[in-house]
Amino acid sequence: MNVVTIERKILEKNDEVARQNRALFEKSHVFTINLLSSPGSGKTSLLECVLEELKGRLNIAVIEGDVHTDLDAQRVARYGVPVVQIVTHGGCHLEAKLVQDALTHLPLQETQVLFIENVGNLVCPANYDLGEARKVVVISTTEGEDKPLKYPAMFRNSHILIINKIDLLPHLSLRLEDLKRNALDVNPSLRVFETSCVTNEGIREVCDWLLGQDSSKS
Ligand code: MG
Ligand code: ZN
Repeated sequence: MNVVTIERKILEKNDEVARQNRALFEKSHVFTINLLSSPGSGKTSLLECVLEELKGRLNIAVIEGDVHTDLDAQRVARYGVPVVQIVTHGGCHLEAKLVQDALTHLPLQETQVLFIENVGNLVCPANYDLGEARKVVVISTTEGEDKPLKYPAMFRNSHILIINKIDLLPHLSLRLEDLKRNALDVNPSLRVFETSCVTNEGIREVCDWLLGQDSSKS
């Protein structure tokens, strides 16, 4: 058995569990977001901004994926939302089975939106379906214009692109229009938001989009 065959079998197994997760989310009317980025793009900070903005308006739960530590889960828990930390012990992506196990610790029936913050990594998380309704990829303005071209699978598989740390633009040589064009060249249907967790710019727009996705419970 060659390596490619083994990898395909792992992905097929993952896809089967992801289907089970997706069925559970649909049955429980939970809109699930797989939040993806390289390390340090501001996924947890964005979550904090969204939790602050939507306090009392939307029942949100969070699954945190990290290689080590539960630091991000501790940050999120301060907002009083249910949160489960998955520690991968070196694993560089979340798999559907890890999410399935975490779900047993969350009050799905009362949850409207579930965020799954994936391990910071622009490579393999793109290939692992977790059962989410939407993949949201975050890139910060400090990462350069070329990332969509270097990591096309991540941008091709995502529905939403959030360009974060927009407040830093005056200090950077980044050409924002080039970054956007590169992302849209890879995936013309990407919806793009621009945000700052320092000035709160763009957070309202992201929250309005989220509120528009919520299907049922109130
Ligand atoms: Mg984080
Ligand atoms: Zn990986």
